[in-house]
Amino acid sequence: CGIVGYVGNRKEVVPIIIEGLRRLEYRGYDSAGIAVGNGHGLELRRAPGKLKNLEDVIRERPIEGSWGVGHTRWATHGRPTEENAHPHRDCSGRIVVVHNGIVENYLALRHELASEGHQFVTETDTEVIAHLIEQQLKSAAESGKTLSLEDAVRRAVRRLTGAFAISVISAGEPNKIVAARNGPPAVVGVGEGENFVASDVPGILHYTRNLYFLADGDMAILTPSGVTLTDFDGHLIERPLQRIQWDP
Ligand code: GLU
Repeated sequence: CGIVGYVGNRKEVVPIIIEGLRRLEYRGYDSAGIAVGNGHGLELRRAPGKLKNLEDVIRERPIEGSWGVGHTRWATHGRPTEENAHPHRDCSGRIVVVHNGIVENYLALRHELASEGHQFVTETDTEVIAHLIEQQLKSAAESGKTLSLEDAVRRAVRRLTGAFAISVISAGEPNKIVAARNGPPAVVGVGEGENFVASDVPGILHYTRNLYFLADGDMAILTPSGVTLTDFDGHLIERPLQRIQWDP
């Protein structure tokens, strides 16, 4: 239900994401989770219930990273358990996804991906997205090609029906977030040497007032030094960078 992602040069990525999620609390949620990337790969923490529960888990088992994504979930498919809380992973654990909305064709995709050897560990519709991205990378590798994360996400989202705003990170591509929108809102915040993505303005407005509002069919590729916007076919697109004057 709420998404916040960060790439940049601040050291304390976890508090930035948690604070953003707190400012999106009004959207309502039943569980929360975060994934950050560092030299060891991606580390996840998740908890049912309020953000405080997630913060307690992080206090007990701290994580650090230089980029990451967080999510507060409003369960539609699968109970609000730790297991079903976002972020969701592929088989390798090297790709994680946070998602708002509903993947309508998730059962068909799950069936197809299972027959290709993917093992599912949650009851959610969201988990198929992580596996679908992994499958794009795998199929390309089998034919001797290397896909970028954004190309893999593009191929994956073209297979999804339903509503989604997603943010994806990969252990294989440090300091990058790929976001895509088809339905639920998504905004990208542009800072200096840092960039943000969120499901709504209050999640990032305290860090930057310069925002791109993604339209349906938009993808954003964020690195610390810049933001690239494309459609789902990879063509570059332009959106006005809006300066927000109001306070939430
Ligand atoms: N359909 C997804 C789930 O149930 C995402 C729900 C949301 O938007 O928070 O996990």
